[in-house]
Amino acid sequence: MIEDKCLTQDLKKELKEKVESRNYKEALKYSKKMLEYIEKDDLTHEEAEWLGRDTVSNFRDYVNPGFVEYRKCVTEGGQFAAVEWKDSGLNTFKDASGKEYIDCLGGFGIFNVGHSNPKVKKAVKDQLKRQALHTQDLLDPLRGVLAKLLSDITPGKLQYSFIGNSGTEAVEAGLKLAKIYGQEKGKFTIIAAVGGFHGKSMGSLSATAKDIFRKPFMPLVSGYRHVPYGDADCLYKTVKSCEMVGEGVAAVILEPIQGEGGIIMPPAGYFKRVREICDEFGALLIADEVQTGMGRTGKMFCMEHYGVEPDIMCLAKALGGGIMPIGAVIAKKEIFSKFFPNPFIHTTTFGGNPLSCAAAIATINVLLEEKLPERAAEIGDYFLKNLKKVCYKYDNLVEEVRGIGLMLGIEFYSNEIGYEVSKELFAGGILVAGTLINAKTIRIEPPLTIEKGQCDTVVEVLDKALAEVSSKFK
Ligand SMILES: *Cc1c(COP(=O)(O)O)cnc(C)c1O
Repeated sequence: MIEDKCLTQDLKKELKEKVESRNYKEALKYSKKMLEYIEKDDLTHEEAEWLGRDTVSNFRDYVNPGFVEYRKCVTEGGQFAAVEWKDSGLNTFKDASGKEYIDCLGGFGIFNVGHSNPKVKKAVKDQLKRQALHTQDLLDPLRGVLAKLLSDITPGKLQYSFIGNSGTEAVEAGLKLAKIYGQEKGKFTIIAAVGGFHGKSMGSLSATAKDIFRKPFMPLVSGYRHVPYGDADCLYKTVKSCEMVGEGVAAVILEPIQGEGGIIMPPAGYFKRVREICDEFGALLIADEVQTGMGRTGKMFCMEHYGVEPDIMCLAKALGGGIMPIGAVIAKKEIFSKFFPNPFIHTTTFGGNPLSCAAAIATINVLLEEKLPERAAEIGDYFLKNLKKVCYKYDNLVEEVRGIGLMLGIEFYSNEIGYEVSKELFAGGILVAGTLINAKTIRIEPPLTIEKGQCDTVVEVLDKALAEVSSKFK
């Protein structure tokens, strides 16, 4: 018995060493090969095939096989998975086989200044040449500059910024700010909206409002309530009820337009009422502009359309110029000052790093210099008008086309129709996507740099796609 056990352990040890040494060797070889690929601009047919095969098997075996299934919608004839490789111009990219696509998805709203915007890329490269990451101890100048710029371009009295690496982190920090601010007054309840999306970390997920993302992780953070989006009367009653039962409301967190919810626009006057309700009960208004911000809707921030100033605003996605990941929360001084006594009360190692800040500084510069928010308004009007013209020919398929600026959505009568249409569009060289919360809607969120001619191409291909799908769904 004892001998057996020893043997097993020896064997186990040997096996472990063998596995480890074999994997080191393999990892060395494999990483070297990939570094050589990274250097390449274009791939030969053989190289593209190898990359396609390995990408699929790597996703299947090491990332998550669910993605391979899901990405089927973007494979032609189900044979080759589409594997992306390079940007080609501001508004288009190429897959590994060299096929070009017009990007109407815009990375869910990250490519506002286009793909590989030269000014943003240069800023990051220049920063990289000099210093990649900050020491963490001295004061890093770019973070300060970015925080000032954010204060300059955001509406109202928003002044102090905490910089993180994603939208989720921006929301998380916003919620924590609201809680620390409300704490003394016994206000801790957070009210969010049904159909809202704010991220998937435990705190932000508690605000996110989609059953499939939340149910497996119950119980979430306590003290959250959800109300229907766009219903100010219901919000009023909910805030009032919370106050009456001693569960004071620290903040109401809302998207100015629900992005993942399926490009849902609030009714006119909604945010004005929300502001009044917040003021009446001393609750903070958090505007989650992670997707709507940085010019997407035709103004720098969507809240400007409503003439309403939030107390806290969350930014990310396009803030990094489609080059670097970055997120930021900006708040009024009175609120943010709760973080002053101990600046380490909320931190993250990589947040505000100089590479990301360089990208964000360049992004703000490009947005302002090239007047991209105005451009989004103008070209968005043109695009929406033409999308409507084509879509409403197929009223058996399309329920509604809506949006503002370049945050547009086409809602179909069913998920299946939306899926089929995106597949046809993809085959025609146009990337669109569904939304996380409402699969019936496909969104059109191209770079704000998209050309009129490219919009025309999209409309033409869409016309053909709808005709094709219409014949299937008679
Ligand atoms: C995408 C998104 C987030 C989450 O941002 P990540 O960068 O994915 O963490 C939060 N809020 C809104 C409104 C978003 O669209």
